[in-house]
Amino acid sequence: MESCTKDTSAPIYPAFRIAALCGGKLDAHGRGILHCPGPLHKRNDRNKSLSVKDGPDHRALLNCFAGCTVTSILNELGLTKRDLFVKGPPLTAAECKEAALRERSRRKWEEAQRLAARRVRDWTHLRDEFGSELAALPDGDGRERELTRLYHFTLDRLRAVEAEQTRLGKQAAK
Ligand SMILES: [Zn+2]
Repeated sequence: MESCTKDTSAPIYPAFRIAALCGGKLDAHGRGILHCPGPLHKRNDRNKSLSVKDGPDHRALLNCFAGCTVTSILNELGLTKRDLFVKGPPLTAAECKEAALRERSRRKWEEAQRLAARRVRDWTHLRDEFGSELAALPDGDGRERELTRLYHFTLDRLRAVEAEQTRLGKQAAK
């Protein structure tokens, strides 16, 4: 998208975006008369009928002198009325603080999930080892009871950690 300003860190307000989509530019005061993409200009708008302004709160103000409605103009540009407004109003200090806390909490849950996932891998590995040792034992081998006990122990641990991992995943998603 074309920007009318050289400052790349400056936000692109809706009116400037709409002007760019109409193939034009606004002046330094955020005003311009552009070719209207609206439906009342079947053979293109040669005389430039559309006034575009960067309004209060950087709301985009559109006015077609030929009478295209704002909705029909937005339609042509693939936009909706919401696109006339700056998205995401600036947060209050309290909202900023709350958002930061939420983010920190989310990161903690994710870290806990990573640890749980590592434990799942460890217990899975042990269970598989005991399982294959058990499977390879010849009949009547004296170690069978002990190996069976170990196998079930690792299986229980694995199920517990998996349950923990699921719970952590639900928490993190909140
Ligand atoms: Zn028009």
